[in-house]
Amino acid sequence: MTSMVTQQTYGADPARDTRTFQVRTYGCQMNVHDSERLAGLLEAAGYRRADDGADADVVVFNTCAVRENADNKLYGNLSHLAPRKQSDPRMQIAVGGCLAQKDRDAVLKKAPWVDVVFGTHNIGSLPALLERARHNRVAQVEIAEALREFPSALPASRESSYAAWVSISVGCNNTCTFCIVPSLRGKEVDRRPTDVLAEVRSLVEQGVLEVTLLGQNVNAYGVSFADGDQPRDRGAFAKLLRACGDIDGLERLRFTSPHPAEFTDDVIEAMADTPNVCPTLHMPLQSGSDRILRAMRRSYRADRFLGIIDRVRAAIPHAAITTDLIVGFPGETEADFQATLDVVAAARFASAFTFQYSKRPGTPAAELDDQIPKSVVSERYQRLIALQEKISLDENEAQVGRTVEVLVATGEGRKDASTARLSGRARDGRLVHFAPDDLREQIRPGDILTTTVTGAAPHHLIADAGVLSHRRTRAGDAHAAGQRPRTGVGLGMPGIGAPAPAEPAAPGCGL
Ligand code: SF4
Repeated sequence: MTSMVTQQTYGADPARDTRTFQVRTYGCQMNVHDSERLAGLLEAAGYRRADDGADADVVVFNTCAVRENADNKLYGNLSHLAPRKQSDPRMQIAVGGCLAQKDRDAVLKKAPWVDVVFGTHNIGSLPALLERARHNRVAQVEIAEALREFPSALPASRESSYAAWVSISVGCNNTCTFCIVPSLRGKEVDRRPTDVLAEVRSLVEQGVLEVTLLGQNVNAYGVSFADGDQPRDRGAFAKLLRACGDIDGLERLRFTSPHPAEFTDDVIEAMADTPNVCPTLHMPLQSGSDRILRAMRRSYRADRFLGIIDRVRAAIPHAAITTDLIVGFPGETEADFQATLDVVAAARFASAFTFQYSKRPGTPAAELDDQIPKSVVSERYQRLIALQEKISLDENEAQVGRTVEVLVATGEGRKDASTARLSGRARDGRLVHFAPDDLREQIRPGDILTTTVTGAAPHHLIADAGVLSHRRTRAGDAHAAGQRPRTGVGLGMPGIGAPAPAEPAAPGCGL
């Protein structure tokens, strides 16, 4: 799953009568979506987003345990806040997400000025924990081992008026040896299709045009329903795609992440048959060496992977296929690495998220003896990047002359101000920087337009020949009005099993 660092900065309330908050997000799309829930919960509890650049009364760190040095970065950031915390006792700091789940009480030992530590299954408790910490003047730690309530039942304040994440499952039943997710997010729990569809419809009714279905392994969807009355169904994901295809107003449907071992032809058929499913697929390869895939405990082999790619391209011509790759997994030989280069050359990915393997404490691979020296990993990494950049450029150059439909986005074009372009995503997920010409004032984020590709770079397309058509959308209206979609409240989404009794938070730990 893609990693990134996102900072939602919410500025201060000058009157200081309403407490303000800021959520700092590290890691994957799951965390980005969890942060929308954290923001929704805090708003529902009466907090207000602080303005950009201002100090917030409550700073929430939604952490990631996947990337190298994630803990050093977290504790460094917490140290930066220590002087503020000392001078402003009203201020509170909360740490949640995967690192909190992993480090638990250790967070308070290393940073005793933190007020709240909450686990990946305890998002819903954040407002109560903040309140309790303030009232009792003692830090609160709440880490549950398993999910009690599907997080989509929580209020969420969405970041975008036009594109939204919708969780279909949480957790993962696989045991990839490099991955910390199963131990931190738990076993897979699938959400009922009726609940997923209700959330998608609610978002579309609020103007959202694009939905990305989210799960650690979406192809396993249907085998771990939380609701005992919902029968297991191995075809559930394909059916879900088709059902989303029937939602009027949902123009673009994406999903992430699939797993090559469980990716079945019924999903390819559903993708091809359902017009609003976008012609794109993010299919994590990780390694092209069968020996390394075995060591990673990834149960597919390179041949199967390439077979899936072929069948997707046969059914969905021009599908943009992207991937994740890990270089330097323990024991990787030059021949293993060459096998990865060979599969990358054959698969012709539109783009790839490439990672240099680093030990992640708590994973089986971290215990392996034959770790690869950093210099070797980084030399292989450079060769892989060079190959993939060339393929990405070739594939993007093949788009020149094509007409693309662009969903106009905000925050996608760092150079837009200097180039006088605007930016958005094509249906296949490619980033397009386009010249709006005299429509600049009319085009809003969330609107849809068509344009012709005139140039290419490895990571984006250029469209400088002008806009062929422009459609103002409800999403564009909502963006212009500063309206954010909300979900999780009043949708009647049940929790998992019986509601858990209110549980006292653990007494102040480590202080
Ligand atoms: S499929 Fe593997 S890499 Fe992905 S979340 Fe599950 S264990 Fe981690």
